[in-house]
Amino acid sequence: MNGVRVGNRIIGEQAPVTIGWENIPKVEGGPIKRFVFTWFQPTLLFALIAFWYYAPNSIAKASTAIAIGIAIKILLLALEWVNPRYDSWRLTWREFVTDLFYVGLGYTLLNLIEGYIGADAVIAAVQHSFDWSKLTWFIGLPLLLQAFLISFMFDFGQYWMHRGMHNYYPLWLTHAPHHYITQLNINKGAVGNPIELFLIGLGIGGFFDFLPRAALLAGTLGIAVSTYQHINVRFNTPRWWRFLFNTTEHHSLHHSQDYEATRSNYAGTWIIIDRMFGTCVDGEAELLGMEGGRRMSIRETMVYPFTQAMKDFRQRSAPRQEPEALPAE
Ligand SMILES: [Zn+2]
Ligand SMILES: [Zn+2]
Repeated sequence: MNGVRVGNRIIGEQAPVTIGWENIPKVEGGPIKRFVFTWFQPTLLFALIAFWYYAPNSIAKASTAIAIGIAIKILLLALEWVNPRYDSWRLTWREFVTDLFYVGLGYTLLNLIEGYIGADAVIAAVQHSFDWSKLTWFIGLPLLLQAFLISFMFDFGQYWMHRGMHNYYPLWLTHAPHHYITQLNINKGAVGNPIELFLIGLGIGGFFDFLPRAALLAGTLGIAVSTYQHINVRFNTPRWWRFLFNTTEHHSLHHSQDYEATRSNYAGTWIIIDRMFGTCVDGEAELLGMEGGRRMSIRETMVYPFTQAMKDFRQRSAPRQEPEALPAE
C-alpha cells in the first residue's frame, strides 16, 4: 500500500485491524477455562468494591491498596502466561526488564516530586480548595454513587487530556513514545516519557491516605477496569462490561499501526465517554506501534519531546517540501 509520511505518522497505510465484537475470537478450551476467563474481570471488580465498602478504617488505607495492587499484578502476569491474547505479545526478558525500568522510574519520580513539593503542603492546598465537608449534597449521596461520580469525572478529564495529546502538537510530543510500544502487557501503562506520566498521573497516589472512602472506592473501580487496557490475556468480556468500560481490545486499536484506528478509544476507564463523543470503535489489533513497529529505546523515550521538537522545527524552517510519498511495497 502507498502511504504518505507526515512527521512520524504514515497516513493511509493499512495495518490489519479487526472491527466489530462479533469478529473477535472467543476463549478456546474446556468449560472451566471458558468460565474463568468470562467471569474473572467482573468477579474481581465486585470483590474489590465489596472490600473497600466494608473494610474497617484501620485497614482502608494506602498501604493496603498498594499490597492489593501488587498481588493483582502477579495474578495477571500468571493469566498472561496461561491464556495470552496473542503469542506475538508474549513477554520476553528484554520486554520485561525494560518495563520494570519504567515502573521503577514512575514510582521514583512520584516520590521525588512528593518529597520536593512536600506532600503535606499539597494536601493542605487540596483540602483548602476542595473542602469535602462543605459539599453536603455530595456527601449525602449513597457511597457507591459518590464513588461512581468521582471516577466518571476524573476519567472525563483524562479523556480530554488524552484526546488533546493526540491533537495538540506539544502534548503529542510527550505522548508519542507511549505509542511506540509494540505489544500490550500489564506493565506497559508505565512505558512512556516521564513528562506524560506526570501530566496523566498528577501524583494521585500520594493522596490516598487522606481521601474519603468514596475516593478509595473510585480508585479501586478505576484500577479494576483500566488495568485491562494493557494486558495480553484473551477474555470473553461480558457485553455490559465492554459497553461501559474500556477493554484491552479497545486499547489495542488505539495502539494499532493504523493511523485512523489510533484516533479512537481515548478513555481510561469509561469507554462510554468515547461513545458519548463519537470516538469509540469496538474492535482489536495485533500489530501495534509507530513507523511499522520500530522499537524505541529507553534513551530515545527520555529525550524524544525535545529531539523531535528540534527536528520538526528545523524541517519547518527549511524550504517547503511536499510530503514524501513512500514507495509501494
Ligand atoms: Zn494515545
Ligand atoms: Zn496505552
